[in-house]
Formats: sequence, structure tokens, C-alpha cells
Amino acid sequence: MDQLELRTAKEGDMHVGFIGLGNMGAPLARRLCTDHTLWVFDQSQTAVDTFTGADAQVAKSAAELAESVDIVLTCLPTSEDLRSLLFGDQQVASVLKTSTMLIDMTTGDPGITRDLAAKLALDGIDLIDAPVSGGPKGATAGTIAIIVGGSAAQFSRALPVLSSISCNVMHAGDVGAGHAVKAGNNLLNLVCRLATFEVVSLLVKAGVTPENAVSIIQKSSGRNYATEITLPDNILSGTLHQGFTMGLMHKDSSVALQMADDLDVPLPISTTAFANLKKAMNEHGQESDMSAVALTYENDSGARIRP
Ligand code: NAD
Repeated sequence: MDQLELRTAKEGDMHVGFIGLGNMGAPLARRLCTDHTLWVFDQSQTAVDTFTGADAQVAKSAAELAESVDIVLTCLPTSEDLRSLLFGDQQVASVLKTSTMLIDMTTGDPGITRDLAAKLALDGIDLIDAPVSGGPKGATAGTIAIIVGGSAAQFSRALPVLSSISCNVMHAGDVGAGHAVKAGNNLLNLVCRLATFEVVSLLVKAGVTPENAVSIIQKSSGRNYATEITLPDNILSGTLHQGFTMGLMHKDSSVALQMADDLDVPLPISTTAFANLKKAMNEHGQESDMSAVALTYENDSGARIRP
């Protein structure tokens, strides 16, 4: 039996492909190796190289991958990247088999997702959105939140594959609902994170150590993801590496603010947080890690949060 035959012998095995093996996509894809015959592709050779020798078949192109599997998962920077993959130069949409399911794990734009889904449906291809929350750490642990937008039947079809990635797969509503909830979640994460940096800077200036400020709030009513994970793991540890860029947070928050504009919902607190993110991004660059926002708060307050 060669390696491929061994892989196809797995119980409940499906042929699935994963495109986009970056900070988030790579750990998501790795979870699929155990249960399914996995094909992978990324336009970056460096990203692909991390899969060499892993239990996956590396496709030469996105089109080769699309022709070889029944379910394609994508985790690209933006919905425009997905549009261009499907309908741009590579024309991947034209090689997808009828009845293929496309599961987009990108943190995307609900409006674009609904447009792409309608276009693909004309050829019998299902597109659903399944963005994730919990970062590379949650993906590796198999606990990442997967927020699915699609019909009940599409959700049922995707579940065996998504369950191989995580035990936390949730149905948000029709196509686009996953991307809407994810954008709202990240806007809330931004607000909580920046408010936490503000308060911790204040407490440090008032003579409390950053470690005490964070650990006490974490046991009190102000606790949130920043006191539980971001500050202890990425800032107080001094690593300043979360694996999520300011540019991606800017994109996610922009999607939520655009939804608010379209639906006439005022978001004064979120708008202020977004302006502060832009300030930090201008200072550090869009490719810098979200943890570096703490440096902006240190500069503005004169309080040292890092070790
Ligand atoms: P990344 O920049 O690390 O990875 C993106 C990957 O997609 C890159 O390897 C790139 O080469 C590849 N790619 C882009 N266009 C492609 C194409 N046409 N064909 C093949 N490969 C292509 O970004 P990331 O951090 O992995 O984020 C991916 C998505 O996941 C984003 O939408 C992001 O908002 C979301 N997300 C990220 C995190 C995180 O912590 N990093 C958490 C939750 C959600």
C-alpha cells in the first residue's frame, strides 16, 4: 500500500482540499490529516514547505487541488482573494466538480460571500462561510470556534469535515451569517482589548504591577479575552507575537463598521477603538502583530506593561 492508499483507508474518510496555509490555515488544515485524505495548496512555497512530509498531498496548483477533491476549504486573507481565486486568472470555479462544497474559513465580507454563493449555485456548487475564532492556538488544540453560515442541509454536509477540526462548530444562520457574526466578534475583541490596555496602563501608573492588574481583573467582573489570553500570553510574557496582524484586525473591524453603516446602527465606542487601531497601525505598520498595539498605549501613558 502506498502512502495515498493508506490515507484513503481511514474510516469515514473524505477527499478534502485546503487552500491558504498561513498562520491560521496551516493549523486548521493539519487537523484534517488524521481523518481525511487531504490535499493542500498555497501560492507561497514557504507555506507549502511546512507540509512536506506531513500526511497530505501537495497540489501543484489550486486547480489541480479543486479537480481532486469533493470538499474545498479556503483560509485566505480576504473575500476579494477568494473571488480572485475562483473567477480571476486561475479560474478555479470552472474546474470545480458539480456538487463540490466550498467551505470558506476566511474572515470575510458577508455581502461578497452571498454574491459568490449565488454565482456558484448556478453550476450546482455550494459555498458556505465558516470563519474561525480562537487563533492558531485554538486550532491546534481542536477547540477553535467555527461559525457557519449556510442552510441546515449544507451545515449537515459540512459537519463531518468541520468536526475533524474542532469540537466547537456552530450554525449562525444562512450563508453570510458566519462572516457577519465573526466580524462583530472581532470588533468586540478590539474594543475589549484596547479598553483593557487603557485600564492596565492607568493601574501601572497608579503603582500596581501589570501582572497583578491583569490577574486580579481576570478574577473580577472586568475579565475578557485580553486579560485571559492576550496580555498573559503575548504582552506580559514579552513575546509580542500572537500570529494575527494589525492589517487583518483592521480588515475585520472595517467589515463590521461597514455593516453598521449599511444598517444605520451607530457604534460610537467601536468607532473610537477603530481610530486607535489605525493610529497604532500607522506607527507600527499593517504587517506588525496585534500585540504591538500595547506599545502605543505604553508610549501614550508612559506606563511600562511589558517585562
Ligand atoms: P496569512 O497571511 O498568515 O495567510 C494567508 C495565506 O493565504 C498565505 O499563506 C498566502 O500565501 C495564502 N494565499 C493568499 N491568496 C492565495 C491564493 N490565491 N491562492 C493560494 N494561497 C493564497 O493570514 P492568516 O493569519 O492565516 O489569516 C487568514 C484568514 O484567517 C484571514 O481572513 C484572517 O482574518 C483569519 N483569521 C486569522 C486568525 C489569526 O490569529 N491569524 C484568527 C482568526 C481568523
